Amino acid sequence: MAGYKTIGGANIDILSSKRAVIALGANLGDAQATLRDAMAAVQEISGLRLVRASRLYRSEPAHLEGQPEFVNAVMLVELDAGLDPYVLLAQLQAVERRFGRLRHEHWGPRTLDLDIIDIEGVRSDDELLRLPHLYALQRDFVVTPLQEVAPGYLFADGRRLKADDVVYGKVIGVESGEPDVRA
Ligand code: ADP
Ligand code: MG
Repeated sequence: MAGYKTIGGANIDILSSKRAVIALGANLGDAQATLRDAMAAVQEISGLRLVRASRLYRSEPAHLEGQPEFVNAVMLVELDAGLDPYVLLAQLQAVERRFGRLRHEHWGPRTLDLDIIDIEGVRSDDELLRLPHLYALQRDFVVTPLQEVAPGYLFADGRRLKADDVVYGKVIGVESGEPDVRA
């Protein structure tokens, strides 16, 4: 996000920061509490600043039936240009581990899942870090909270956020009516 910020009276050049979106999901244990704590932990990552966090949404399990409903949210953040996307991924995975995520079956129940949905200006086909995230626009549990914090969000590959493309992970309701967290 290009622009200048006034900090302590000085204009600091923040031309080099990038907008990014992180998605959170959980469906084991106290999923609401996990998401709130995880949001706080993500904000402690060095070089990352929260712009806006969505409310918590309840959604139907995607891909694999017969598991508990999910609680989902997204965070719109700004990243320092010096923060490598793989370092960010490793730090998010450390947060997943801190919240006791066990590696169950792919797409199965988990105490916490953190995905990087998009980083401004970054495209990647590496299966260890695909950007924009492969399924983001098809997942209602990503699209609906992202519409809340960044309506019409423009992805690094030029696609624009719209509700039409969703095919699974339907949002059932809003978990908490509390006001958005804004930086
Ligand atoms: P999913 O999030 O699809 O339900 P997992 O969290 O188990 O499944 O997938 C983990 C793997 O996905 C990680 O090892 C990571 O390297 C890879 N991955 C690829 N692209 C991304 C991304 N954009 N964000 C997070 N993980 C990703
Ligand atoms: Mg994941």
